[in-house]
Amino acid sequence: MLKRIACVLFLFIVIPWTQAQEIKKSPNLIIILADDLGNADVGFNGCLDIQTPNIDRLAESGVVFTNAYVTYCVCGPSRAGLITGRYQDRFGFTDNPLFASNDSLMGLPLSEETLADVLKQANYKSLAIGKWHLGAHELLHPMKRGFDDFYGFLSGGHEYFPEQLTLNDPFEATTQYDGYKTKLLKNYTRVEEKEYLTDAFSREAVAYIEENRNNPFFIYLAYNAPHTPLQATEKYLSRYSNIKDEKRRTYAAMVSAVDDGVGSILSKLNELNLTENTIVIFLSDNGGPERTNGSDNGVLRGGKSQLFEGGIRVPFAMQWPAKIPAGMIYEKPVISLDIFSSVIAQTSNRVKPKNQLDGVNLIPYLIGENDKSPHDYLYWRKFDEKKYAIRNGDEKLIVESEIHKMLFDLKNDIGEQNNQSNDRMERVVQLNKDLRKWESEMQGPAFLGLLKDKIYNEQHPERFTKQIK
Ligand code: CA
Repeated sequence: MLKRIACVLFLFIVIPWTQAQEIKKSPNLIIILADDLGNADVGFNGCLDIQTPNIDRLAESGVVFTNAYVTYCVCGPSRAGLITGRYQDRFGFTDNPLFASNDSLMGLPLSEETLADVLKQANYKSLAIGKWHLGAHELLHPMKRGFDDFYGFLSGGHEYFPEQLTLNDPFEATTQYDGYKTKLLKNYTRVEEKEYLTDAFSREAVAYIEENRNNPFFIYLAYNAPHTPLQATEKYLSRYSNIKDEKRRTYAAMVSAVDDGVGSILSKLNELNLTENTIVIFLSDNGGPERTNGSDNGVLRGGKSQLFEGGIRVPFAMQWPAKIPAGMIYEKPVISLDIFSSVIAQTSNRVKPKNQLDGVNLIPYLIGENDKSPHDYLYWRKFDEKKYAIRNGDEKLIVESEIHKMLFDLKNDIGEQNNQSNDRMERVVQLNKDLRKWESEMQGPAFLGLLKDKIYNEQHPERFTKQIK
């Protein structure tokens, strides 16, 4: 009898209690994604004219990745790669989606699991904030893609001042860029936001940390700053009266607002004693479009929408005091895909995704358990332009066309100035072969992208008309 009571106690009290303790051990996760931030525009990458003390504090408390990439050189596909942990070409997310609230195929295919979907299996509460850009149809809304909560907008960019948010309904839009004027969504409801957008997003992140202090949480904080339109409040502009170039000055102010947000998040974690077991990641979704928003990619060649380093190599830092030593510099190539794999490996019940991942769990590499390179190869494809890139070790091949290929040694030529393809044809042939092998696993476009706006409108005359159910 006693044995039986002990057995019942064990089954119904000890096991659930142990499980609850285990769940608590899963680290919280905050991914802070900047939009179109130049590689050289944070202090930890050497920026001098813009001060980012809070982003730098994050970087100094953990690891700075110096060879860090995203999976694409513009916003949408890069986000699709990050949030699924898979090369987005595997599921046809080959371009920026259009703002099309009637189209359930215009965005992240339903075959894909997001990081929020998988973390739900480990009892995380999750919030997506800011720019979604993975589909505007109701089936593609963040809360249909694994997130418990949402505060933000569904389009690929947005106005920043509350008085500019005038559309109550996406069907009041009549053009692609009207998506920038929608009122913000809190879950499924339009709200009257009163603050400058960047400040509003920071506020929501801080509140969520407070509300979820006792359970594991995941905040995907996708600022649209410093993506155009260039708009900043006097509070931030006044910090940069020394910058004479107006574009750069406004850009600096927008970055400064993001930095303040990062500061408020780090402070809230400290206040609640959550810093130790919270993974905080900061990165940009693609390189800076220098001429458009006044960003600076430093010594890197090119920028947004290009496969040169300036388009795909981004500022990337991560802190997790429980595991990662402060002040680390990690120089081997990593990619945004690694976030997914790294995080799910830290959950107490080791949750498993249903789809094949392309990322690597970076933690063993950061704590000295593995000194190899996390990736033998990294790949990029711009489907419409038939442009490709592949990195193997320090070598990078860019394929602009069948007859124009460039081979660079990134260790000695980070600025991609010295094309070695003529002298090292055997490597060009081999890397091109490796690229084609990878591409054979990829899919063609699942939807018409941003540059096909006109064609799409012709094919979908009801694009902006609300469908009666
Ligand atoms: Ca972007």
